[in-house]
Amino acid sequence: MMRQYNAAKKKHPQAMVFFRMGDFYELFFEDAKIAARELGLALTARDKERKVPMAGVPVRAMEGYLVRLVRAGHTVAICEQLQDPKDAKGIVDRDVVRVVSPGTLIEDEALVGSEPLFVLAVDVQATAAGSAAGGGEDELGLAWADLSTGAFRCASTSVERFPEELARIAPAELVLPDLHESDGSPEQHARLEAVRAAAAREELPVTLRPPWAFDARNGARDLREQLGARTLEPFGVEDRPELLAGCGALLDYLVDTQKSALAQIRDLKRHEPARHLVLDRATRRTLELVRSQQDGGREGTLMAVLDRSETPMGARLLRDWLLEPLVERPAILRRQEAVAELLDAADRRRALAEALDGMGDLERTAGKVASGRAGARELVALAGALERVPALRGELASAACPALSELRERLDPLAPLSERIRATLADDPPLGLKDGGLVREGHSAEVDELRALARGGKDYLAALQQREIERTGIPTLKIGFNRVFGYYLEITHAHRDRVPEDYTRKQTLKNAERYITPELKEYEAKVLGAEEKSKELEYRIFLELREAAAAELPRLLATAAAVAELDVYAGLARVASERRYCRPELVEDSVVLEITEGRHPVVEAALLEDPFVPNDARLGEGSRLVVLTGPNMSGKSTWLRQTALIVLMAQMGGFVPADAARIGLVDRIFTRLGTGDDIARGQSTFMVEMVETANILRNASESSLLLLDEVGRGTSTFDGLAIAWSVCEHVHDRLGARCLFATHYHQLTDLAASLDRARNLNVAVREWGEEIVFLHRIEEGGTDRSYGIHVARLAGVPPGVLDRAKEVLVRLEKDEEGLSRKILAEHDAAAPAAERTLAADAAHAAPAAPAPPPEPEVLQHSLFDLLEDADEDLLAELRDVDLNALPPIEAWKLIERVKRALDGR
Ligand code: ATP
Repeated sequence: MMRQYNAAKKKHPQAMVFFRMGDFYELFFEDAKIAARELGLALTARDKERKVPMAGVPVRAMEGYLVRLVRAGHTVAICEQLQDPKDAKGIVDRDVVRVVSPGTLIEDEALVGSEPLFVLAVDVQATAAGSAAGGGEDELGLAWADLSTGAFRCASTSVERFPEELARIAPAELVLPDLHESDGSPEQHARLEAVRAAAAREELPVTLRPPWAFDARNGARDLREQLGARTLEPFGVEDRPELLAGCGALLDYLVDTQKSALAQIRDLKRHEPARHLVLDRATRRTLELVRSQQDGGREGTLMAVLDRSETPMGARLLRDWLLEPLVERPAILRRQEAVAELLDAADRRRALAEALDGMGDLERTAGKVASGRAGARELVALAGALERVPALRGELASAACPALSELRERLDPLAPLSERIRATLADDPPLGLKDGGLVREGHSAEVDELRALARGGKDYLAALQQREIERTGIPTLKIGFNRVFGYYLEITHAHRDRVPEDYTRKQTLKNAERYITPELKEYEAKVLGAEEKSKELEYRIFLELREAAAAELPRLLATAAAVAELDVYAGLARVASERRYCRPELVEDSVVLEITEGRHPVVEAALLEDPFVPNDARLGEGSRLVVLTGPNMSGKSTWLRQTALIVLMAQMGGFVPADAARIGLVDRIFTRLGTGDDIARGQSTFMVEMVETANILRNASESSLLLLDEVGRGTSTFDGLAIAWSVCEHVHDRLGARCLFATHYHQLTDLAASLDRARNLNVAVREWGEEIVFLHRIEEGGTDRSYGIHVARLAGVPPGVLDRAKEVLVRLEKDEEGLSRKILAEHDAAAPAAERTLAADAAHAAPAAPAPPPEPEVLQHSLFDLLEDADEDLLAELRDVDLNALPPIEAWKLIERVKRALDGR
C-alpha cells in the first residue's frame, strides 16, 4: 500500500496526496504534518518503528478540509480506491483521480454564485517563434477557463496591457511556462518576468508547466479535438500562434488536473478588447465596481447596488458587463432597449422574476452534469429549472425589442429531457448514488420487482421475529442487522436460559447475545441479494440518464446564457424603477458629457438620513477641462466618481442615476483617485500617484474620460502644485480629453480661468461664524479656500495646534500672492492656445517651452517679503552685490547682516 502511495506522490510531487483508505483520506509524512497544523487534525503514526506520520480526514467531511487547504495555497491530489474492496484480490487499486488547485477548486462550498472561477494560462513564447503577431504588439497569448461552467476564452495582449487584462479576468490561478535560463530568448524571459511581476502584485498563485506544453502546433490539435471542430477558423484563433499555444497549455493543464476529457468545455470565445470600454487596474479598483477597497467585499460596490438578479448566472453576467462596458453604440442601445421595455412593464417583470427565482444555477449544474459530477438531486434541479423556461418564453411572447425577442428563441425548454428526468427519478432523491432510492416507483419494472422482493423479505423477518417471541416466550427478542454478521436475533442476558437449541451464538455484547438460525440466513440472502441488485440497477439507470442530459450540454448552456441575459435586463430594469434612474442618450461625439442632477449610485444608496444632493456635470467644446475646488469633505471625489460611474453604467447598457444624461461615447475611463498606500508592494504613495498619472498621460485619447483627484498631493506643496499645474496644461493643450480635475491648489483656478476650453467649478459651503456647513452643491467658479483647518477642528485636533496653524496660514498666503499669475503669464507667452493644439502631433518632438520651475522664485519672493520693512540699506546692498566678485569672507559677513536684520524683525 505504501508503494501505491509513493507512486502517487511521485507523480504529483508538488501536491499533498489525499490517500483513500476506507472511510478516510489519509495524509502521510510531511503532508500529514502540514495538514495537522493547518486543519487542526490529530497527528498519529502509521507505523511506530518506521515513524510514518499520518493524519486523516473522514470521507464525508472531506470537501471542507480540501477547500481550506487549497485556499491556503496548497494543491491537493486525490488518490481514490478504484475497486470495490470486495472485488479486490489483495490490495485495492488506487490512483490519483483529480488534482485540485486554486483555479480548479470547483467544490460547491468553494464557489461564489456571483463570481466565475478562472484559471489563466499565458503564452510568452509563440511570438518570438516567428509568428505573424510579431512586432511588440499583442505578444502574449491568454487563455482562461472556468471548469464549473465550461466557459473558455482567449485574447492576445501586449505586455504593457497585461496588468489591465489580469485585473479584468481576475483568475484564481495563473499557468506559466517554466522557462529555464538556457531556454528561450531574452525577449521571452523579459515577457515572462513582466507577467510574473503583475501576478505577484495581485498575489496570484502561479503554476509552472514545462515550456513544451505551450506549443502552438500541439495546441491547435488539442483545441480541434476539444471543440470537436475540423478547423479553428470560426473561433478566430487559427493564425494566432500565441493563442493556440495559450489555449493548448491551458487544456493540457486542465486535463492533467481533472484526469478526464473536460466534457463541459465545448466552445471557445475570442475576446476582442476593441469592442469594450477599457478600464485600467487602478480605475477598476478605485471605482469599487465589484470589490470594495476597504475589505475586498461586495458591500459598498456598484455591483451590490445594481445586482437584482434572481439567478447566480445572472449575477455573473452582470459582473462581466460591469467590468467590461461596451463602446459601440448599436450594441449598447440593444441592451438599453431591453431594459427600457421591461422598465415599462412592471407586471411582466414580476412574472419574470417569479419564473427566474428558483431556477438555480443552471449553468453550473449543466457543467456538473457534463463532467459527471452531478448527483440525482442536481438532475432533479435541472428538470425544475427547465420546467420554468416555458413561463419565461411566454412572458417574452409579446416582446418588441430585438434583444428580448431573440432571447425568446434562445430559451430552449428541452422538454423531453426534463420529462425523462421527472419520470425516472424520485422527487426528492437521496444524496448518495449507490444506496438506492433514486428511481421513481413505476419507472422500471425490474427495480420495482427487486424492491418488492427485498421488502417482502423484510416483512417475512418481521413475522419471524413475532413467531420467535411467541416460541421462546422472550418478549424483548428482536431481529437486528449489522454489516459484519448480517441479520441476527438478539437476546438480553436476563433471558439467556430460554435460548432455544437451534440458535447459533455469533457475538456477545455487554448485556445481550446475538444468534443466527439457518432460516434467518436463508432470508438474509434473499433480502440482501435483492437489495444489492436493485441498488446497482438504480445506479446504472441514473448514469444513463446523466449521460443523456450531458449529451444536451450545448443546448443547456445556450439556454443558461439566455436566462442569464434576461435576468440581467430584468434586474437592471428593476433597479432603474426603484431608484428612479433615467435612460441616457448616447451620442458619437467625443466632447459631450451632460448629466443633469446626477447622483452617486452607491453613496445615494448608503445615505440613510440626509438626502443625496444631486449635481450636474457639463462638459463640452468650451469646457473639456473642469477644475473643481472646494473644501475637504465637501464632495469632490464623490462627484468625480459618480460621473465615471454614470458613464460606465450607460455604456454597459443600463440606466443611470440622474434626471437626464447625454453622453458622448468614451473609449477609456482613467482615474487617479486617492488610493491606499502600496508600500507593502514596494511603492510609496507618491510613487503610485505618479505611476498612475504617467499611465493616464501616455494612454488617454481625445475620447477618454479622465478623473484626477488631488494629483500632486503626495509631495511637497510646490512640487505638487507644479506637477498639477503642468498636468492640467498638458491635458488641456495636447490630449483634449474630457477631464475633471479636483484639487486643493486653488492657484489652479487662475489657470483654468485663462484657458479657453477649461472651466472652474467649486463645491459650495456656507460659513456660520466658526462653523461651516457642507452643501455638497457644485457651483460655477473657483474657490480660494480649503477649510482644511475647519475640518481639522471637526476631527478633534487640539485648539492650540489649530490657532498656530491659522497664524502660519496667514503668513504663507501672504507669501505666495501673485505667484500663480506670474506663471500663468509665462504659459500664455509660450504659445497661443490654437497653436498648442496643432502642435499636439508633434508634441514629443517640439514641446511648448516649459515654464521655469517656480521654486527658486518662491524662495526669493518670500525672502524679500520678510526683509521688506527691515532695512532699506541692506536691501539695496543685496541688490547691488556682484556675486562673481564677492570673496567668501565678504559673503559670510553679508549673510550675518541679513540674519541680524531678520532676527531683529
Ligand atoms: P477630501 O478633499 O477631504 O478628499 P472630498 O471633497 O473629496 O473630500 P468626498 O469624499 O467626496 O469629499 O465626500 C465626503 C462625504 O460627503 C461623503 O462620504 C458623503 O457622505 C458626503 N457627500 C458627498 N457628496 C454628497 C452629496 N452630493 N450629497 C450628500 N452627501 C454627499
